[in-house]
Amino acid sequence: MYDEADYIMLSALQHYQFCPRQCALIHIEQQWAENRFTAEGRVLHERADSSKSEWQGDVRIVRSLPLCSREHGLSGKADVVEFDRDGRVYPVEYKRGKPKSDRCDEVQLCAQALCLEEMLALRIDCGALYYGQKRRRKEVLFDAELRALTVEIIAKTHELLRDGVTPKATYAKKCDSCSLYSICLPKSCAGGRQVGRYLANVLKGES
Ligand code: SF4
Repeated sequence: MYDEADYIMLSALQHYQFCPRQCALIHIEQQWAENRFTAEGRVLHERADSSKSEWQGDVRIVRSLPLCSREHGLSGKADVVEFDRDGRVYPVEYKRGKPKSDRCDEVQLCAQALCLEEMLALRIDCGALYYGQKRRRKEVLFDAELRALTVEIIAKTHELLRDGVTPKATYAKKCDSCSLYSICLPKSCAGGRQVGRYLANVLKGES
C-alpha cells in the first residue's frame, strides 16, 4: 500500500512507456512543452471533459471521474466511465490518432480499471479506447497478460520517480515527435562523443 504522498499520475505511465527520460523530465523536473500532437490530444480530452455526465438509455455516462489506487499508488482521471443497470463498469479513454502497434494505450486504460476495481470493489473485464482519427472504439480485454504488463509498468514508473534521477537522452526516431525535444536536446546530450560532434558542428556552423 502506498502513502498518498507517493502516488504517481496515471499519465506518467504513458510518458514512461514513450520514453523514461520524458517521464522524468515531466514528473521529476516539472518540464512541459506542447507540440501539435499534445495539443490535439489536449483538445480531444477537453471536449470529453466539457460534456456533462448523462444517461444514454440504460447506461450512465460519467465524465472526468477522479481515480486513485492505494495498492498501486496511482491517481488521475478517467475520461469516461459507463455504468449500466446490471452493474457493469466500462472505462473509455479518448486518444488522438489511431491505434498504435505497442500496448501503451491499453496499459493506461488497464491502470484505470485497476483503480476502479479497488475503489468499487468489483471486477472489470474490459473497456475501450476511442481514437479521434478513426472515430471509433477499440475494445480492450483486461486479461492476465495485460494486467501483469500494467503492474510491471506501474512498478518501473514508481522506481524511476522515486529514484529522482533523469535518464540520459538516447536519440531515436520517436524523438522527432516528442514535445520535449527542444528541452531534452537528444542529439547533443546523448553522450560524450555526440556532444563532441555537436560542438564541433556548432563551431563549423553546421548545427
Ligand atoms: S526527445 Fe527523445 S530522448 Fe528526449 S525526452 Fe523526448 S523521446 Fe526521450
